[in-house]
Amino acid sequence: MDPLPHTPGEMGSPTVALCGGTVVTSLDPPEVTTTDVVLAGDRVAALGPAPDGVPRRDCSGTLVVPGNVCAHHHLYSALARGMPYHLAAPTDFTEILQRVWWRLDRALDPAATRASALRGGLDALLAGTTTIVDHHAAPNAIDGSLDVIADALAELGLRSVLCYEVSDRDGPERARAGIGENLRFIAQPRPLARGMMGAHASFTLSDETLTACAGGAGDAGVGVHIHVAEDAADQRDAVTRCGRRVVERLHGAGVVGRRALLAHAVHVDPDEARLVGEADATVVCNPRSNMNNAVGHSPFTRRDGRVALGTDGIDGDMFAESTSGFFREREAGLAVPPDWPLLRLAESARFAGAVYDEPGLGTLRPGAPADLVVLDYPPPTPLATDNLAGHWVFGLSSVQVRDVYVAGEQVVADGRSTRVDESEIAAASRDETARLWQRLEEIPAHPFTPMGDEH
Ligand SMILES: [Zn+2]
Repeated sequence: MDPLPHTPGEMGSPTVALCGGTVVTSLDPPEVTTTDVVLAGDRVAALGPAPDGVPRRDCSGTLVVPGNVCAHHHLYSALARGMPYHLAAPTDFTEILQRVWWRLDRALDPAATRASALRGGLDALLAGTTTIVDHHAAPNAIDGSLDVIADALAELGLRSVLCYEVSDRDGPERARAGIGENLRFIAQPRPLARGMMGAHASFTLSDETLTACAGGAGDAGVGVHIHVAEDAADQRDAVTRCGRRVVERLHGAGVVGRRALLAHAVHVDPDEARLVGEADATVVCNPRSNMNNAVGHSPFTRRDGRVALGTDGIDGDMFAESTSGFFREREAGLAVPPDWPLLRLAESARFAGAVYDEPGLGTLRPGAPADLVVLDYPPPTPLATDNLAGHWVFGLSSVQVRDVYVAGEQVVADGRSTRVDESEIAAASRDETARLWQRLEEIPAHPFTPMGDEH
């Protein structure tokens, strides 16, 4: 499937050595050391003095960290920045969907999808994010949409896990088309792109569609990536329409397994949390998005185990997300482990690593995929394993990103993409966005309303 070598024994000769930096080899547990990092092909080959004759990249005065993973993103939202809005202001989460996002997704065509993936992907890469787990929606341009995104991200050199969000809100034909798009893409993995089964949320899915998603995912050996109880409206719908709470319903349909990715999980009770834990499913928290939509605070943010972090389309900056999430936790109570951001980011990488069958993803140990970020960060105070978390929260930021490597290739050098012309992408994104916003003006609020939420 993936022609690239997977074990240190198969690695070729060293290709580059990153010399003189302080290196974070692991986030959980934190491990900081001072060493050269020798890459061979797409792997970390060794930590130690660079061999003679190997090209060197001077990293003195830098902090070398594993590439960040955004475990829940919507790249199509990259073209929504500054979007005009002329309808009555939304007063709750359902109205935000009906009046903003379910209008924008219906206006997407392949050109807009491509522009959003290039724009959002480039922003993420320049912010030190090397893997994006994306959840795409474009009800009027479903077929082939995941190839459009994968092609754009391949141009940038970014790693991804993609899916199309299946939903019945635009009718059964589009639900079937969404399942078909996922299965088609899952069957054609690329070196830097994998597929999952995407599903929107319990409240826009019939029993039949939900079962088809779970069955298709099971047959393909992948998990389902779905929004879970992001707002209380999802629970009201499940109880009113199905007589069960959201996680019980999804669990009954076979969605909540060890490969599942459950976004948000805000309005989840202890019995539902227990089901998620027993299934070993991964929850992905999105603190900035939850604050922005006023949907509440996930009980999973303080739980150990499979709890990852995503931006939900706010942007691709996991330094900002992890730091903001930490402060949100501190606001709710001071008993927050200082390494909270590191644990959450390590779980994001663990999830992506499981999809790629790469348990070393998110570490810089020998044999791990060479996905890493070089930060211009001469530490102003001593930095070591026992205080990495303090530097992460109070010192690190995406503005310090100097170099980015994905699968051993340098895709950002001195803060610039080595692959694409950034000014061309910016100009194309502005042009395509102008056309998208024009189409948006013609699209009314979406009529779909969750059961138990009619008003
Ligand atoms: Zn989302």
